[in-house]
Amino acid sequence: MSPWVIKGIRTGIKTSAYPRNAETAAGVTPGLPVSSQMDTGAARALVDICPTQVFTIINGRVNVDVDRCIHCYRCVRGVEQPARWDSTYEWGVESNQKKNLLPAFRKSINICVVDAGDCGSCLNEVRQLSSPYYNIHRLGFFITPTPRHADVLLVVGPGTDHMSLALQKIYNAIPTPKRVVAAGVCALSGGVFAESFTCSEGVTDILPVDVEVPGNPPPPLAILHGLLVAAGRKPPVDLQPGSSQANATGE
Ligand code: SF4
Repeated sequence: MSPWVIKGIRTGIKTSAYPRNAETAAGVTPGLPVSSQMDTGAARALVDICPTQVFTIINGRVNVDVDRCIHCYRCVRGVEQPARWDSTYEWGVESNQKKNLLPAFRKSINICVVDAGDCGSCLNEVRQLSSPYYNIHRLGFFITPTPRHADVLLVVGPGTDHMSLALQKIYNAIPTPKRVVAAGVCALSGGVFAESFTCSEGVTDILPVDVEVPGNPPPPLAILHGLLVAAGRKPPVDLQPGSSQANATGE
């Protein structure tokens, strides 16, 4: 018997109930900043302290662009009045490039993971998906190194110039129907690397992305939600200011 099976029996730790049931274990998500109404001084402090220009003030309301949040927590620990923060983990958003995704896959899917200049953190979260706790195989999700066997291309990293051609070749090698999931703020906006000598503004500049998953890095459940959205098994969420998801978290 595998050591992790024996350990699971001994410790009582078992595979996550998600997506059938909500995940309630502590620490499965770092959460996300959400838009809120604030007084002008506090709002200004958030705008000034955020290193990646996540906050904008519109009509006295602090709006949040989650595609840029690098989870540095300066807006929580470094200011008198912290930003409002939620504790959700379903972060799969339909890309602006593709709206109203129809279900493309009926049964199992194979996922080709590509590191497009990732620092290692998003890739590490992706790796957790195959661990006993998240165990994506139970959902019929399998990782494949071969684009020709893949249904979904999961990209992490900002899409460096050196990876641009490779990404396009991999995308072209995947048979249709296919979906592209971009995970992590570097893939969505370039993150801290944006518009530098190494890359432009993320993978969305290179490929037709279907599903976006913010976070730096996104936790495994957020990536899993993005994959479920790509497979048509879960609806996407709307993380934009004023959305129902934002409202559900205390707006
Ligand atoms: S955690 Fe950091 S990057 Fe994210 S909104 Fe707060 S200050 Fe900006």
